[in-house]
Amino acid sequence: MAVTKVWIEEGCIVCNACETACPEVFHVTEDSCVIRAEVRPDGASDPNLASKLPLTASVGADLESQIIEAAEGCPVEVIKFEKV
Ligand code: SF4
Repeated sequence: MAVTKVWIEEGCIVCNACETACPEVFHVTEDSCVIRAEVRPDGASDPNLASKLPLTASVGADLESQIIEAAEGCPVEVIKFEKV
């Protein structure tokens, strides 16, 4: 099992919980949360909401439990993901 894609819907309240749960993937900025450039094939750092690009290589498998923990721990449920 692996998470193939992860993105942030609108409505983040900048609580930092996701970065605490999985700092390799999530980075909380002053006004939102982004998916880190290091784990994306396009090297961009944004919520990945528009493009919903897949995670790079083995990231989604290696960090599956942490990504799901972050999504389940988001108080406003804006972290969405797909997995296989
Ligand atoms: S856990 Fe949810 S609300 Fe909190 S910073 Fe992350 S995306 Fe935003």
